[in-house]
Amino acid sequence: HDEEAAARAVATEANSGAPTIFDKIISKKIPSTIVYEDEKVLAFRDINPQAPVHVLVIPKLRDGLTELGKAEPRHEDILGHLLHASKIVAEKEGIVDGFRVVINSGATACQSVYHLHLHVLGGRQMKWPPG
Ligand code: C5P
Repeated sequence: HDEEAAARAVATEANSGAPTIFDKIISKKIPSTIVYEDEKVLAFRDINPQAPVHVLVIPKLRDGLTELGKAEPRHEDILGHLLHASKIVAEKEGIVDGFRVVINSGATACQSVYHLHLHVLGGRQMKWPPG
């Protein structure tokens, strides 16, 4: 059961509200290719793109939003802002006529970074259902 315990420890650590790699991207301690930014959100290219356009849109202030499943009424404004920023990104990237926005919430959905992020995907024919 050592392996199970280790896996559980990793998952718990990842979901503990500890700082994530995105904090370093926001503070520009690690470089990213920024495609859009305003006072509330940052949009940058995913390092492991799943489509010709794959941009992550994140709140600069996490404020407890480790995952969508933890959203509270106070997050309504930032959630709307993130969705609208995704549309601006799609426009800037030339895919506004057809694009997909994905939020993975929780380990079952394969979330790997616990700082809310919207995936903006496009530039190819998307398939349904997603995996
Ligand atoms: O939804 P999920 O949590 O799995 O998405 C995290 C995303 O963050 C992945 O698509 C991964 O490629 C991306 N990532 C990144 N730069 C990092 C670490 C992760 O673009 N330094």
